[in-house]
Amino acid sequence: MFKVAVIPGDGIGPEVVSEGLKVLDALEETSSLRMQRTELDIGASRYLRSGELLTEDDVATLTKQDAIYFGAIGDPRVPTGVLERGILLTMRTRFDQYVNLRPIRSWLNFSRLKNEAPFNIAFLRENTEDFYMGAGGIFKGGEGKVPLRIKRTMYDIRIDLEASSSDVEDFAFEVGIHSRRGLERFADFVMSYVNQAGLDEFTVVDKANVCTSLYGLWREVFREKSEKTGVRLEFMFVDAMAMALVRNPERFGVVATPNMFGDILTDLGAELQGSLGLSASGNINPSGVSMFEPVHGSAPDIVGKSKANPFGAILAAKLMLEHLGMVELGKRIESGVESAMKKGIVTPDLGGSSTTSEVGDAVIEYVMCV
Ligand code: ATP
Repeated sequence: MFKVAVIPGDGIGPEVVSEGLKVLDALEETSSLRMQRTELDIGASRYLRSGELLTEDDVATLTKQDAIYFGAIGDPRVPTGVLERGILLTMRTRFDQYVNLRPIRSWLNFSRLKNEAPFNIAFLRENTEDFYMGAGGIFKGGEGKVPLRIKRTMYDIRIDLEASSSDVEDFAFEVGIHSRRGLERFADFVMSYVNQAGLDEFTVVDKANVCTSLYGLWREVFREKSEKTGVRLEFMFVDAMAMALVRNPERFGVVATPNMFGDILTDLGAELQGSLGLSASGNINPSGVSMFEPVHGSAPDIVGKSKANPFGAILAAKLMLEHLGMVELGKRIESGVESAMKKGIVTPDLGGSSTTSEVGDAVIEYVMCV
């Protein structure tokens, strides 16, 4: 029996999560899968009601779960960043979800590329370090002192920055940090993912020709791990990778990226698939609580119109099952999505006229019959 916390969240979150749950129900009826689900009211509505973002009670409940199934957060009434920082980023940090998994693949003829070759890439993005650690500051009139404290589960770094003279303009900075331990645990995850995928080679993205220190250590750790495990790797600069993704994505299998470049490349990848509504992701801590969600946000422009594409949320359920070791059931979900697409049962973002729940029903029809 798996314990799963369900957080439908805001906007179209509840609409797409309910389709994902329908698919999981269908699997429970037809396989040995058993789940005990706990729904949590976390998101904009509660924040507007009570001012609460992620409470200690929420954290205590979430800590007891095997996984978290998440919809979306965001609300036009709440200033940008409040919910993202207060809920999503806090959750990633509290549960130390240091890998972001975002698969992208071509689906029938929905890809935006003219290139006919099918592609299927698993992006693995380091999720806790690099330029997204909040390590920045602004010197007004060139004056001041900015003490930075970067406290994580594995280390506690303090950097004191001081302007050497007041004779300079305002300036701002954001520091990127990689730690050996942070990189080693990420590289270990990548190696075992590549092995499990039955591949013997993968791609590592960086900008080591310019950010020589930050990505110098990054390369050093990957080289060491590659020598130790025998898993071969190729390094690619992020600019070359952006071009190659559009030109010949079929040549990639597993791609490991630092935090910031991964953020950008995976959005490019999501669009190449045909719609943002198709993308799913996992925030993973291999020995802790991981969270699975569609990549899209709350999409306030289509709330309540039955137009939301539920594939991203349904495929997030697939990633969750695979993470919990139910790989065959995950494949069944993916084939169910393909089957709905083949029948043309898709939402308007993919050029169809089906409703959110009609799409969910089409996936279930396949899942029940296998
Ligand atoms: P947020 O602030 O929550 O991220 P947003 O509107 O800025 O919201 P998204 O929610 O990701 O960002 O939406 C971007 C665009 O993509 C919107 O026009 C939205 O309608 C569309 N979109 C997002 N998700 C879906 C989906 N599942 N199905 C159909 N269209 C979608």
